[in-house]
Amino acid sequence: MFTLPELPYSYNALEPYIDEATMKLHHDKHHAAYVKNLNDALVGQDKLLNLSVEALLQKLSEVPENVRTKVRNNAGGHANHSLFWQLLTPKKNGVPHGEIAKALTESFGDFKSFQEKFAAAAMARFGSGWAWLVSENGKLVITDTANQDTPLMDNKIPVLGLDVWEHAYYLTYQNRRVDYIAAWWHIVNWEEVDRRFLETI
Ligand code: MN
Repeated sequence: MFTLPELPYSYNALEPYIDEATMKLHHDKHHAAYVKNLNDALVGQDKLLNLSVEALLQKLSEVPENVRTKVRNNAGGHANHSLFWQLLTPKKNGVPHGEIAKALTESFGDFKSFQEKFAAAAMARFGSGWAWLVSENGKLVITDTANQDTPLMDNKIPVLGLDVWEHAYYLTYQNRRVDYIAAWWHIVNWEEVDRRFLETI
């Protein structure tokens, strides 16, 4: 069985950048639904229910075909959101330090150039999906996915991810995804990004 993780901070801790009502809906309704739908899809499949969600996403070909799309969407949603909460922090206006800071400079020139390229990828994702910074054996690459797909499906390790589904921002920012992205930089948990990156090198 998969379970909904608790938020590592209070619902209003990310204000003013992400509001309390958005966090409640996003975690308690959207993320909870991915978990419930995933468990429903795998009823009776004890072997698959006992995997980590990351391992499940890397073994989608072993999931029965009649529920494979449902598992792909909902396991992706569960994994992506579980990660997303960890990548946010109420400690506002952090900046990258350590190895991740060095690697960002090496890969993108400087932090500002990285931010511009990442934001461009997040803006260019048509409809619902995610923008990602992935580590391919220590090399940082910006990518994006549709719906709840995750780089894990391609055996790439996400170290930073941004949810650009409208449910992530519409209450506060309406159609202004660009303003949501600008706000999100204030609450990125760079310590966690660095910790995840170190595991890939
Ligand atoms: Mn979401």
